[in-house]
Amino acid sequence: MHRGIHYLSEVASELYEQAHEKAAKFLGGEGMENMIFTRNTTESLNLLAYTLGLTQLNPGDKIVITGMEHHSNIVPWQQIAKRVKAELTVIDVTPNGTIDMNSAEKAIDDKTKVVSIMHVSNVLGTINPVKEIGKLAHEHGAYFIVDGAQSVPHMRINVKEIDADFYAFSGHKMLAPMGIGGLYGKTEILEEMEPFLFGGDMISQVSFEESKWNSLPWKFEAGTPNVNGGIGLMAAIEYLENLGMENVEKLEREILTYAFKQFQEREYLEIYGPPLEQRGAVISFNLQGVHPHDVASILDEHGIAIRAGHHCAQPLINKLKVAATARASFYIYNTKEEVDKLMEALDEAHKLFKSF
Ligand code: PLP
Repeated sequence: MHRGIHYLSEVASELYEQAHEKAAKFLGGEGMENMIFTRNTTESLNLLAYTLGLTQLNPGDKIVITGMEHHSNIVPWQQIAKRVKAELTVIDVTPNGTIDMNSAEKAIDDKTKVVSIMHVSNVLGTINPVKEIGKLAHEHGAYFIVDGAQSVPHMRINVKEIDADFYAFSGHKMLAPMGIGGLYGKTEILEEMEPFLFGGDMISQVSFEESKWNSLPWKFEAGTPNVNGGIGLMAAIEYLENLGMENVEKLEREILTYAFKQFQEREYLEIYGPPLEQRGAVISFNLQGVHPHDVASILDEHGIAIRAGHHCAQPLINKLKVAATARASFYIYNTKEEVDKLMEALDEAHKLFKSF
C-alpha cells in the first residue's frame, strides 16, 4: 500500500504490513485488516471518539465509562458528548477498588451506544471483568471498547474471547519504542466506519469533488507512516512471544505477590485497590503523613523509579480522598532483590519523616 518502486521501500512496506499482522494476532485478531497503528492508546481512543462518537451518537444517547478511567478514556468522550449532546455516564467503583456491577447494570441501558472501559487500572491494579461488561454492552446494542494500555503488556489478550469491538494499547508500555500504539477493531465495524484523519495514503482515489478510501487498515492511517515504530513494536511482540505471555504473567505474579506481602506487613503504608488475586502488577500507596512526591524523591535518591501524582486519573484520586498516591509498578525486568531495596528505602523514608 505504501510501496515505492524501490527495493528498500518494498522491504519497509512488507515489514510494516507484517507488523500489523503480528500485532493483530498478538491480541487474538484475524489479520492486518484488524489493526490500525496509532501513536498510542490516547490516539486510539480519540480515533473512536471522533469517528463513532461524531457519526453514531445522537442527542440523549449514552456513553458509559467507569469511575477508574485514565484521562485518555474520559476526556475524548466527555468532549464528544458535549458536541453531540450525549450523556457521559460513570459506573461506580466500590471501596475495594473494583467495578460495582450493580451500578454497571443500571448504567448500561438501551440508550447506551458506547461502553468504553479499562481492562486493568493503572492506579489500583484492578483487573476488570471485561467479558461481563462487554456482554452487557452488546445486550443493549452498544459498541464495546477496551483500553488495554495496562493489560496488553502483561497478559495474554484474546479480543475474541472478550468479544471487544475495539481494543486500544500503547507500544511504549510493552518494550516497544515511544510513539507507536494500536487499535484492534472488528473488520465489519471498521469497514462501515468513517476515517479519522484525511490525506495521503488513506485514499484509493481522489478528485476535487470526491475521494474513495483505501482498504483496511490503511483507511485509518493517513500520511507517511511510522514505519520504524511499527517494526519496533513487532520486535517487542516477538520478544514477548518468545518468552511466552503465560510466563510473563507468571513472573509478574511472583514479583507482585512477593512485594504485596511486604507492603501489607508495613502498618505505616496505606495501600489502595483490591486484594492480590484481583490485581495486576501495580501497587498504589501512601506513607502516613508524607506527600508521595517526597516519597518519590527519596526513592529516586536510592535509584528507584516510582511514580507519584494523580496518574492521569484525577476523578479516581478524588474519590480515594487523597491528593495523590505513590505507585510502584513491576514488569518482567524486575527482581525480588529490587523489591527488597524498595522496601528498605521505604522503611528509611518512614523513619526519616516520623522524626519530624
Ligand atoms: N490508559 C491507561 C490505563 C494508561 O495507564 C495509560 C497510560 O498511562 C493510557 C491509557 C494512555 O496511554 P498513552 O499515554 O500511551 O496514550
